[in-house]
Order: sequence, then C-alpha cells, then structure tokens
Amino acid sequence: RPRVLSGIQPTADSFHFGNYLGALRQWVGLQDSHEPFFFIADLHAITVEQEPKVLRERTRRAAAQLVAMGIDPAQSAIFAQSAVPAHAQLGWVLQCMTGFGEARRMTQFKDKSAKQGEGSASVGLFTYPILQAADILLYRPQYVPVGEDQRQHLELTRDLAQRFNSRYKKTFRLPEPYILKETAKIVDLQDPTRKMSKSASSPSGIIDLLDDPKVSAKKIRSAVTDSEAEIRFDAEDKPGLSNLLTIHSAISGESIDSLVERFAGHGYGDLKKELAEVVVDFVTPFRDTTLALLEDRTHLDQILADGAARANEVAERTLRDVYERVGFAIPA
Ligand code: ATP
Ligand code: MG
Repeated sequence: RPRVLSGIQPTADSFHFGNYLGALRQWVGLQDSHEPFFFIADLHAITVEQEPKVLRERTRRAAAQLVAMGIDPAQSAIFAQSAVPAHAQLGWVLQCMTGFGEARRMTQFKDKSAKQGEGSASVGLFTYPILQAADILLYRPQYVPVGEDQRQHLELTRDLAQRFNSRYKKTFRLPEPYILKETAKIVDLQDPTRKMSKSASSPSGIIDLLDDPKVSAKKIRSAVTDSEAEIRFDAEDKPGLSNLLTIHSAISGESIDSLVERFAGHGYGDLKKELAEVVVDFVTPFRDTTLALLEDRTHLDQILADGAARANEVAERTLRDVYERVGFAIPA
C-alpha cells in the first residue's frame, strides 16, 4: 500500500472547520487504501512562542481529536513530530540544499511574519517549509492531503526531492499534494478574504470543532455576508455566503446546486439557521468523544508512543540512506 502522510500544528485548543474540511477529512478517507502517517507538528508550533504547559496539553488534545474524527490508531501511526528526531535531522540536510531566495519566496512566511514584523519573526518560521519538506520526504508518501495554503510548500518539497535525487542518487519519491478543490480554502467568517486560521482568525471568525455548539451556532448566525439578498454560489463576489454554502454542502452531503435551489427566495438568515443546525449536529458527538478520550491520558500517550515507534522505524531508514549518500561517515 502506498503511503500517505500529513501533519497539523498544535497551535490551538481545537481544530477548526478549515482544518477538518480542507485536510483532516481526507486523512480519514485515505487511511484504508494507504499506509498512513499522521503527525502533530509541535516542532512547527514553536516557530512562534508557545507556553510549554499549553503546548504539551494541546498535543494530547490534537491526538484525541484525530481519534475522535475517525483516525484509527491501529491502522494509522499518530505521533508527535518531536518524537521522531529524523525530522529535524533531515531538515538540516535539506536546509543546506535550499537557496536563500528560494526560501524567501514562500508566501506563508510573508503573511505570518508581517504580523510580528519580519525582523522579529524567528529564523525557524523562515525555514519551516524546509522542515516540512523533511517531514514529508522521510516517509516517501504518494499523497499529502492538505489545504490550498500548503500548495506552495508541496512544490518546494518536490523541488528539493528532485534536487537530492539528481545530485546524489534516487532516494525520495516525489509526493503529490492531495487537495480537494471544493473545500481547499475555508474562509474566516468575519473576514471572508482570508482563510480561517488557528493563529490568525479572531474568535468570531473561526468555527472550532470543540467550541460549545451554542457558540458555534451564534458565530454562524453573525457571519459576514454581503448586501445582496440572493442566495447563489459565487466565491469571487460573494465569498462569505459561498463559504457558508461550502461548509453546509461538505457536512450535509447535499450538493451546492441543490442548496441554492432549495433556498431560492429565502433570506440569508434561513440558510444560516439551517447551517447552524447542521454544524451543531456534527460537532456535538465529536466533542463528546474527544472529551471522553481526554479523560484517559495513559491511553492517549500509548497511542502517541506506538505511532512514534512505527514512524521512527521508517524515518530512520530513510535518514540512514540520506546520511550515507551525503557522505557522512556513519559508524556501522
Ligand atoms: P496556523 O494558523 O497555526 O498555521 P492553521 O489553521 O493554518 O494553523 P495548520 O495546522 O497550519 O492550521 O494546518 C493544518 C492543515 O489544515 C493543513 O493541511 C492546512 O492546509 C489545512 N488548513 C488550514 N486552514 C485551512 C482553511 N482555512 N481551509 C482549508 N484548509 C485549511
Ligand atoms: Mg497554517
């Protein structure tokens, strides 16, 4: 079975609907047909300052949410990135093969550093796409299920894989991004020109999976739309409304065309009200399962330990090939 790999940062107490619809749902869908490796990107999380206690807790919460949404730990390796040293080790080798200008072209760094001022952003935030390339290439996966915002990083990953393969010897498989067009970019409820984001969205712009369902319903009802009254899908001119249709369709399974037809002649309020119900029905059992899993820390830690053992086995093998090909004198 070809491998599939992806990661998510423990930078909030809860994942949000952008994470779920853009990426995590595909993780669940691909795990049966692939050999899956899913990691919690704690090394990436510290590219911005984190409170140690909070980071540790969020890593467990992330694991619990993955299991609650249907990632089966018996089938999928679920692990913390920091528990597999080869990520950082290969990351260094790849940093030495990346041009400074090439790294500087990454738009996510521009976005994320703009907030703090480029001068005070960490060097880790700058080099994070290269570490991400290492995360991926170690497992030689066929697919990397991610949202649209990761497309550029996947291209860098492929470039670096190709560069290494041609400079030394074929070592890495060129991974393909697995991006679902419809849900690749879920936008912020309050600012539909920007993606919904754990670290950048305001609380009212983001629907968290672990929010109190009543709070989520309220956020949906006050989502920013537009000044027209007609319900139709138009991501350019009506990004707020189209986002609501996208979320509804993705969770309920009803097509956007059918929603548009059914809501013809209705106001935005009616659509919001129904979407709020759809979301509440979806998050309520998810939230209950996650909170129950969080009661048993030993079990969660065991899942992470098992996942790390499986990941280390694969990652160490790849790293050994890399070290040997680069010319390091590895003791037998
Ligand atoms: P941060 O703000 O800390 O970067 P994030 O919300 O962007 O957090 P990540 O952990 O960086 O979340 O990304 C996890 C996965 O979710 C990635 O595959 C990413 O592409 C996807 N993703 C994140 N936001 C969205 C979104 N708004 N729409 C679709 N996919 C998304
Ligand atoms: Mg992100």
